[in-house]
Amino acid sequence: MSRVAVAIIGAGPYGLSLAAHLSARKLESRIFGHPMRFWSDIAEAGGERYLKSFCFGTNLSTPAPGYSFADYNEPRGLETFEPCSIANFTEYGRWFQQHNVPWVEPVEVENVDRQGDGFVISLSDGERFVADRVVVATGLSGFAYVPPVLASLPPDLAVHTSGVKSFAAFTGRDVAVIGAGQSALEAAALLGEAGARPQLLVRESSVRWHDRSSLEPSLWERLRWPISGLGRGLKAKALTQFPGAMHRVPAKWRTQFVNDHLPAEGAWWLRPRVETRLPIHLGVAVVNAREVSGRVALELRFASDAGERRLVVDHVIAGSGYDIDVANLTFISEHLRCAIQRLGRAPKLNASFEASVSGLHFVGPSSAMSFGPLFRFVIGAEYSARVVSGCLSARAGLLAGHQWGYWRPARASPHSDLQRPHRIATLVG
Ligand SMILES: Cc1cc2nc3c(=O)[nH]c(=O)nc-3n(C[C@H](O)[C@H](O)[C@H](O)COP(=O)(O)OP(=O)(O)OC[C@H]3O[C@@H](n4cnc5c(N)ncnc54)[C@H](O)[C@@H]3O)c2cc1C
Repeated sequence: MSRVAVAIIGAGPYGLSLAAHLSARKLESRIFGHPMRFWSDIAEAGGERYLKSFCFGTNLSTPAPGYSFADYNEPRGLETFEPCSIANFTEYGRWFQQHNVPWVEPVEVENVDRQGDGFVISLSDGERFVADRVVVATGLSGFAYVPPVLASLPPDLAVHTSGVKSFAAFTGRDVAVIGAGQSALEAAALLGEAGARPQLLVRESSVRWHDRSSLEPSLWERLRWPISGLGRGLKAKALTQFPGAMHRVPAKWRTQFVNDHLPAEGAWWLRPRVETRLPIHLGVAVVNAREVSGRVALELRFASDAGERRLVVDHVIAGSGYDIDVANLTFISEHLRCAIQRLGRAPKLNASFEASVSGLHFVGPSSAMSFGPLFRFVIGAEYSARVVSGCLSARAGLLAGHQWGYWRPARASPHSDLQRPHRIATLVG
């Protein structure tokens, strides 16, 4: 079996940024997954879809200049503040990948298991190889949370927002959308615009909307609500200025902060597409759901009265968010998963994003419990890419001094010989 220094699983913003930083440090890595697949799936489901984050807060990261989202958008006449379309962001990510990480291997990782002090990895094309270190950068894949009350419904009747492949497929259908966060509100808008009849079921007594940022804020607004890549406000500003600070906060406070930060709310540009156009039921809980003659009968309990009411629809879409649970990372062998210490259900990570299984790192949303809410968003990719690439190259440097030699001197063009550069350390196996 061949051997590689670092295997990165997932080619979204976090995986691609890390691969670019490792390459700049001349450390050998392989990266797997279809570039920007999470985002292209969203764009391909159809409709007008935008990022919630600002353009300047949604950069993929490389030490080379000229690859920010705005660097891509500006010469093409695309939006450079907000709102930026998700299709545009997908194209930006692919452009970044083609220029900075052209050696991505568009295959899935099917299994990761321990082998000696490294890991053996099995790919969907049948290849098996050994990696000294593995970085899991699989984003929200596998973490979609569907409330237990919907669990008994078949998948053609009940689906999570992340599972919707085409909003047009619901044309002419009655659809109950559960939730009041961005995903639920956006799904309802897109369903309505695709000719379906959506109804929003919201547990809270109101829907929260995010205000549009002023392009010319007053001095007071700038002081009280400073703008940052995570939004407006002092908390957001502090989180972006000191991305590593939350890791030093006691775990009890940090996990509470992560859970409470950013309540469910919709973007300002979504409001006119939902508020006055679609039926919204507030203060309502779904207490039962069952299939009746190919449709879904929902039992609803309203906060305003004691009784229950019935709603029959063709489909239910759960906009109930994501639950980062190591148990759902089924491409990691069971005994490795069991060996990973948790914070809640998420992996507990040290300051180098490394789990209690030595050599196994997590970046992206699964690192948010250990590092704070910044890492749920693309903006966290730069800090994690810098920290993890620094840690991995330092350790490889140590090894180089002792036995293997992952380092090599810089060459004129790092990409000139191979599509996948820096495969210099396949010395073992
Ligand atoms: C609807 C929605 C809107 C969002 N909008 C924003 C926004 O506006 N701004 C923002 O900053 N964040 C937003 N987010 C959060 C967003 O998910 C993260 O910021 C971002 O995706 C994190 O990047 P990532 O690289 O960790 O994950 P991803 O972009 O999800 O990339 C991970 C990749 O890994 C791949 N993968 C999974 N398993 C495997 C495997 N076994 N083998 C190989 N590849 C695998 C997946 O296909 C995926 O392409 C949004 C999330 C949702 C659900």
